[in-house]
Amino acid sequence: MMGTARTPGTPGTGRAASTDAVHAGEQEPRPEGAVVTPIYQTANYELRGEDYHDIGYIRLSTTPNHRVLAERIAALEGTEAALALASGMAAISGSLLTVLSSGDHVLVQDTLYGGTASLLQQDLPRFRIGHTVIDPQDPSGWAASLTPTTRAMYVETLTNPLVQVADLEAVVAFAREHGLVTMIDNTFASPINFRPAEIGFDLVLESCTKYMNGHSDIVAGSVAGPADLVRRVKVMQDHLGGSLDPHAAFLLERGLKTLGVRVREQNASAGRLAARLQAHPAVSVVHYPGLESHAQHERAARLFDGFGGMMSFELEGGTDAAEAFMSALEIPMVAASLGGPESLVVRPAAAVHAGMSAEERAKAGIRDALIRFSTGLEATEDLAADLDRALASLPRAVAGLTA
Ligand code: PLP
Repeated sequence: MMGTARTPGTPGTGRAASTDAVHAGEQEPRPEGAVVTPIYQTANYELRGEDYHDIGYIRLSTTPNHRVLAERIAALEGTEAALALASGMAAISGSLLTVLSSGDHVLVQDTLYGGTASLLQQDLPRFRIGHTVIDPQDPSGWAASLTPTTRAMYVETLTNPLVQVADLEAVVAFAREHGLVTMIDNTFASPINFRPAEIGFDLVLESCTKYMNGHSDIVAGSVAGPADLVRRVKVMQDHLGGSLDPHAAFLLERGLKTLGVRVREQNASAGRLAARLQAHPAVSVVHYPGLESHAQHERAARLFDGFGGMMSFELEGGTDAAEAFMSALEIPMVAASLGGPESLVVRPAAAVHAGMSAEERAKAGIRDALIRFSTGLEATEDLAADLDRALASLPRAVAGLTA
């Protein structure tokens, strides 16, 4: 199952995802024979009697660059339709505002990407849209959180930064039983490792800023799902204005072409590095779904085609050791985000999760000493040597190695 180049692509075509990543949705005939979709740098197009939402205009996501991306992403996610947008948050906010109306309620998993959590906590209540946090590992408690106005369930494939995997099959079953729309942020997996629509999720959201584009040089997002629902998200975003610029669309299409090779390489490299870290005496715990020690390893192995490039770990020496170790690394940069060619390292409590109170972080299991590592595309042996050298550089007392 793992790491196959034959991850299924467009249903019914017999093509693998790597082929779809290069070709799905490309223009026929090719304009001027162009091998690559040109950048259509024109805001508006001649009218041809279309309905308003189909008029050629960048904000309406109707340009050739948008159309190619929409078909390509739908093929990769295995959905009827897709939509490329200006950011992951445009995909998330547009989808939530499409599915939920004033007075509605959504069940959400306990740890969510910070932007999504802030939207739910700070903005949506002003529109009388409420939410209840559920434990994604314990379906027995979900029914108690339902209200007469619950309309949807929202989860993430892999949580940040502990890379936990919710009981995704139970989410789909519960939502079907109670008539809820299911929404999943698949950013950490990408459709190479997991296609949520295959197990029944309705709306699949990606921050294409990460693995989908894969080059740390644009911000973009996508929504994939049934054609009628994706169309409703498009109409909502036509009004909100979160459309993707054609030049960014061109770069995203270019990035998508290498999605398969990039993600498979990152899976393989992360797996080797996680195992190596776990065996190191200065490392106290490693969180990576590919490790048998991971609480949801069996579920991840059953559902995913790969375990991803993201991991987190703690050193025996705690926070001081973590800071000294990160400063000693030569290859990974200390930066937020993930999914690019550059390996990145960050201490979530001091950066990406600094907005949470110490109490909230403790409840979520995000300890101050935790280090998050996004595996890039550098040679695994160079990354391994860098990690070893940085760990060896810690004075024994700092590394927590003196009894
Ligand atoms: N979802 C996840 C899991 C993320 O990590 C991020 C960004 O870090 C987003 C959504 C938001 O994406 P964007 O920054 O493209 O709006």
